[in-house]
Amino acid sequence: MPILVHKYGGTSMGSVERILSNARRIERDRDSNYQVAVVVSAMAGETNRLIDLADQIDPRGSARERDMLASAGEQVSIALMAMALHSIGIDAVSFTATQAGIRTDRFHQRAKILSIDSERLHDVLDSGGVPVVAGFQGITDTMEVTTLGRGASDTTAAAIAASLEAERCDIYTDVDGVYAADPRIVPGAKRLERVSYDEMLELAGAGSKVLQTRSVLFAKKYHVPLQVLSSFEDKPGTLISEEAPVMEDVVVTGIASDRSESRVTLRGIPDQPGIAADIFEALAAEGISVDMIIQSRGHDNLANISYTVGKTDLSDAVNVTEGLVKTLKAREMGVDEKIAKVSVVGVGMKSSGGVAARVFRTLADNGINIHMISTSEIRISTVIDEDHTEPAVRALAKEFDLIEEAAEETVAAS
Ligand code: ADP
Ligand code: ASP
Ligand code: MG
Repeated sequence: MPILVHKYGGTSMGSVERILSNARRIERDRDSNYQVAVVVSAMAGETNRLIDLADQIDPRGSARERDMLASAGEQVSIALMAMALHSIGIDAVSFTATQAGIRTDRFHQRAKILSIDSERLHDVLDSGGVPVVAGFQGITDTMEVTTLGRGASDTTAAAIAASLEAERCDIYTDVDGVYAADPRIVPGAKRLERVSYDEMLELAGAGSKVLQTRSVLFAKKYHVPLQVLSSFEDKPGTLISEEAPVMEDVVVTGIASDRSESRVTLRGIPDQPGIAADIFEALAAEGISVDMIIQSRGHDNLANISYTVGKTDLSDAVNVTEGLVKTLKAREMGVDEKIAKVSVVGVGMKSSGGVAARVFRTLADNGINIHMISTSEIRISTVIDEDHTEPAVRALAKEFDLIEEAAEETVAAS
């Protein structure tokens, strides 16, 4: 029998009623001759509550203990989900990541899955039951509990789907699919029926938090289609799969924004070979990953270099860069935390030019200044002031025809 993985996010696990309704959906797929394995997140708000407790004691406290604490929310969910299945007569067995053999590296709070021992999950499936696995957590080879980064139950689900060779991984959430822009920012944004793995990777990487980036990487690598759909209503969702030829007709598929980065600038550094290498080697040595970089020529053979890093890495990055101000004899260092990255993504860009110009013109017409630019074959990202995020996303959605006509009329009339 083919296998489906169902993943339920925080809102979808938010109450006993929601959990019971998920159980009935699982029953329906089993009645259609699927074996179903389930991955669940902590109940809505629970992971934040736990992290907040830790922060009240010490925001820079032991990463091991923070993972021990943060992983607890998912343990509550697996047991409740298994009980809900029992209550409608379905055999179900809950599994922590340790019990499901989800091995990770040893990097707390951002651990990566190395392997999954799916034997016990297969045993449950083969005996007609439903394994219910805790998302977000893992276990190292020295039996330390890890977590995989915020939002990572998606990644657990895609990894479990890959290891079970599932036909599809269904991600049940509080929206009925992937939209061309975050529907909370652009009401009336178009819902996408299909998105290629590569576009979804770029959208997720650019801040669209409907799926965690690493879940899409797993799905692409192991050829598991993902479907994003609502657990609140029965409607078709968005299928994320290999690129289909028709996708190229659309130039821009979606827009994402990200406020999680800050910009660091070194001004007045000598414009000579090796300086950029010195800066980025020093950051890499501290395990800090940099996103965008821009270098510009100043006066008197001096240059400026700006880079962006995640806000969680900012204080480490500032420490490293302050050290460099002295050794490189730079004039000064500046930090800007009030920035946002706004990106447009679409496979159609490969075959049609002029998209960058349209992006820049749209921002300019709305009085929005661009501080940094970076591109890939199918993405154009700009760094702008944080205050301009929502106007920028809305203006670009309009420019690239990503709003349903009816919604556009309502906006125009109001
Ligand atoms: P879950 O708890 O189910 O994992 P998340 O909150 O992580 O749910 O992800 C769903 C949310 O992602 C939606 O409520 C929506 O606001 C947001 N989102 C951001 N960008 C998009 C997009 N392009 N399409 C759909 N939802 C998006
Ligand atoms: N509960 C975890 C979080 O809030 C994982 C997830 O929801 O995907 O980040
Ligand atoms: Mg999520």
